[in-house]
Amino acid sequence: MDREIADAVATGPAAPAAPPAEVDVPPGRPAPAAPPGGDPDWLLVYEGYDPSAEGLREALCALGNGVFVTRGAGEESQADGVHYPGTYLAGGYNRLPTEVAGRTIINEDLVNFPNWLPLTWRPPGGRWLDLGTLEVLGYRRVLDMRRGLLLRDFRVRDDDGRITRVASRRLVHMDHHQLAAIEYSVTPENWSGPIEVRSMLDGSVTNSGVTRYRDLASRHLETVALGAVGESGIWLLSRTTQSRLEVGLSANTRAWRGDEEVAAERRVVEEPDRVALHLTFDVHEGETVRVEKVVHLYTSRDPAISEAALEAREGVERAPTFADILPTHLAAWSGLWRRADIRIEPAGSEQVMLRLHIFHMLQTVSLTKIARDTGIPARGWHGEAYRGHVFWDEIFVFPFYNMHFSMITRSLLLYRWRRLDRARWAARREGYRGAMFPWQSGSNGKEETQEIHLNPKDGTWGPDLSRRQRHVNAAVAYNVWQYYAVTGDREFLSRYGAEMLIEIARFFDSLTTEDPATGRFVIHGVMGPDEYSEKYPDSDEPGVRNNAYTNVMAVWVMERALESMDILSPQRVAELAERIGMGPEEPERWRQILRRMTVPFHDGVISQFEDYETLEEFDWEGYRARHGDISRLDRILKAEGDTPDRYRLSKQADVLMLYYLLTPADLARILARLGYDYSDDLLRRTIDYYLPRTTHGSTLSFVVHASVMDRIERDVAWEMFREALRSDIEDVQGGTTPEGIHMGAMGGTVDIVMRHYAGIETGDGVIGFSPRLPAPLASLRLRVLHRGRWYGIAATHDRFALEVEEGPPGTAPVRILGHDHLLAVGDRVEVDLPEG
Ligand code: BGC
Repeated sequence: MDREIADAVATGPAAPAAPPAEVDVPPGRPAPAAPPGGDPDWLLVYEGYDPSAEGLREALCALGNGVFVTRGAGEESQADGVHYPGTYLAGGYNRLPTEVAGRTIINEDLVNFPNWLPLTWRPPGGRWLDLGTLEVLGYRRVLDMRRGLLLRDFRVRDDDGRITRVASRRLVHMDHHQLAAIEYSVTPENWSGPIEVRSMLDGSVTNSGVTRYRDLASRHLETVALGAVGESGIWLLSRTTQSRLEVGLSANTRAWRGDEEVAAERRVVEEPDRVALHLTFDVHEGETVRVEKVVHLYTSRDPAISEAALEAREGVERAPTFADILPTHLAAWSGLWRRADIRIEPAGSEQVMLRLHIFHMLQTVSLTKIARDTGIPARGWHGEAYRGHVFWDEIFVFPFYNMHFSMITRSLLLYRWRRLDRARWAARREGYRGAMFPWQSGSNGKEETQEIHLNPKDGTWGPDLSRRQRHVNAAVAYNVWQYYAVTGDREFLSRYGAEMLIEIARFFDSLTTEDPATGRFVIHGVMGPDEYSEKYPDSDEPGVRNNAYTNVMAVWVMERALESMDILSPQRVAELAERIGMGPEEPERWRQILRRMTVPFHDGVISQFEDYETLEEFDWEGYRARHGDISRLDRILKAEGDTPDRYRLSKQADVLMLYYLLTPADLARILARLGYDYSDDLLRRTIDYYLPRTTHGSTLSFVVHASVMDRIERDVAWEMFREALRSDIEDVQGGTTPEGIHMGAMGGTVDIVMRHYAGIETGDGVIGFSPRLPAPLASLRLRVLHRGRWYGIAATHDRFALEVEEGPPGTAPVRILGHDHLLAVGDRVEVDLPEG
C-alpha cells in the first residue's frame, strides 16, 4: 500500500481532534484555515453551518465516480429548500409530459434517483437530528480531493443540554463503481443513554432542485419493491416511469465500538417508497460509536449482472466494512491524480480551485469499469440544471481528457457516433443533408432543447430559439479532429471519426446557399454562441444571417472532412461515400465554399453577424446603475417588454471563439483564402470592440476571453482566468452552481494552463512546448499524454524541463521552443526560457 494511502486509512475520524472552531465565512468561500492533518492545497474547507450556502456547498462537495454522483448534502438532511440531497446516474434520463401555458411539453430530465444518504439519530422517542432546530456548536465540512472523501465534523446541543459530536467520512467508490459508504461516528460528550439510529433508502424523491422548473412534472420514479435483507440490510428497487431504467440499492448498516460490533435492537420500517433500518443501543459519555452504512447501487444498464436489485442484495452479503473498501478507493484516486494533477506555485486558492476543477471532471466522466454511453453534461451530474444535457460545452472539456485519458474521449465521441443516425434523420426532416446534431442532447440524441422557457424575472414563458445554434455540429467535428490530432488514432478516424466529419460537412454544405448578388456562400437563420442575439429585432424569422463564427467553422469542418478523406485509403473513402450516398460533386462544392464563404466585417472588425452594426448601442451605464448585476440582460430586458436582439450586446464570446479554437495562423489562412484581409492587429481590434459589449452571462465567456487575451495582454488575461476559476467556487453567476457545476469553465481553465502556460501544441502530430507562465505564477508541473507517451513537465519563468516518463520503445519528436528533439522513454531535456 502506498504511504499516503496507508496514512489516510489510519487517519479515521473515530478520535476527533479539538472541536471545530466556530468561525464562519461568507457563503461559498472556502475557509482559509486547513483542518489539522491535511494539506490545505487539496482541501475545500467550509467552517460553520450556513443554511443559505448549503446548496452551493452540496454541489461543490458532491462525490462521484463517473457512474453516479451524489451531492454533498448532510446525511440527516432532506430536500427542504435549504438542502438538496440528489443522486444522479451518468446518462440516467426520463421523459415526462407537462401542461404549460396551454400546451403539452415533454422534457427529458436527468433523474434524481433514490437518496441513499439518510442516516440520522435521536434519543428514543425524541426528535431526529435537525441542524435547523438544534444548537449547532461547531460545524466543519471538508472535501478531501486527493482522497475523494467528504468529511464532516460537528457538535450539537439539544434542548436538554446534551452535547453530541458527530464526525463522518463518505466515499463514492472510484474503483468499485457500484459502491458507496458512510462512516459516521457519534460521541456523546456529556451524557449517556439509549440512541436510535435510522438508516434509510428513500425512493420518494422528486426532481425539485431547480426552482424555475417547479411547474414541470417532477416524479420520475416508481417503487417496484423494497424490503429487508439479512440482519442489517435493506433494499429498494426503483424504476423510471418512461425510460424504464431500474435502480437497485441496498444498504448494510452496522454499529461498532472499536473493533467490536455493537449489539443493537433492530427494526425495519417499510413505507410505500422508503425503507429504513432502525438500530437502538446505549451510548456512554465520551465514548465513540461508529455507524457504517455501506451501499450498493446497480442499474438495469450495468454489464455483468443478473438484475439490479438482486445484485444490490448480494452486496449486503459481501458486507465489507468501511475500512475494507477504503484502500482500493484511495488507490484509484491516487492513480488518477498521479496523471491528472497540476501543481502550481505559489499554491494558495488558485491551486485549490484548479484541483477542484480536475476533481469534478474526474467524478463526472472517469475510467470506469462500467462503460457508460454518455457525453459530457454541461452541468456535471451534480444537479438538475439543463437536465443533464450535453451541449457544445464539450469543446472546453475534451482537451483535458485528450491529454490525460484519451480512452475517455474516445468513449465520449462514440456517444455522438451512436447518435449519428438520429442526427441524419434530424437533418433530413428539416430539408438538409448529412447529420445535424442537437443543441441539447440526452438519451437518444433527439433535440432536447425546450421549445419555451420560463423567465424567472417575470414568470412568463417565451419561445426558446437556442436550438438554432447549429454551431454545435462544428464542436462535434472539432472534438473528433482534436482527438485524432492528439492520439493519432487512425482506426478511430477510419471507423467513426471521418464519417462524423463528412456528415457534418455535408450538413453545413446543405445549410449554405449561394448569393447571386455577391457570388458568395451564405448561411441564414442560425444563432451564434451569443444567446442574446436570437433574431433580428423586427423579424419573425428565427436566427441571424452569416454568423461569422458559424461560417468560418463550417469552412474549417469542410477542410477537415477533405483532409480526413486524404488520410484514409481510397477504398475506405469509396466505401464510406457509397454507404452515405455521397457523390464527388459534394466535396467539390466544399472546395468552392472554402473559397467563397461570407464573413461579414464592419469598422475593421469581424461582425458577429451580418448587419450587426445596424443594431442600437446599449445604455450600459444606465442599466448597471439601475440593476447592479446585468450579466443576465436577456431576462432583465424581456421582463421590461424589450429584447436583447435590438442591441449590440453579447452574453458571451462569439466572434472571439474563432481565436479560442483556431490558431491565428489557421484563421489567417482561412480568411486569406476567402479573399478577406487579415492583419495581426485584428485580434486586438476585435477584443476592443466586443469585450465592452459582453455581459459574460455564461461562465464560458471568461474562459474564452482569458485564453484569447493571453496572446496580447497577459495581466488582464490572468484576472480573467481567475474569474473563470472562481465561477463555481464563488458561484459568480449568483445561484447557478447549486443547480450544477459548470463543466465548460472547469475544463476550460485547465485547458488554459495546458495550452497557454505550459504552451502545449498538438496541431501537426508532434507535441510542442512553448511555456509562458503568467507573472503571478512561479512554477508549474504537470503530466500529459500524447500518442501513448507520458511527458512530465516542469516550468518556471526561465527554465523548462521535460521528461519522457512512459511509453512505447523507440524515439518520437518533441518540439521545444520550435526546436525538434528525438526523445525516448527516460530522456530528459532542460532548456532556458527567453525573457518575457
Ligand atoms: C450558454 C451556452 C452553454 C449552455 C450550457 C448557456 O448559458 O450560453 O453557451 O452551452 O449555457 O452550459
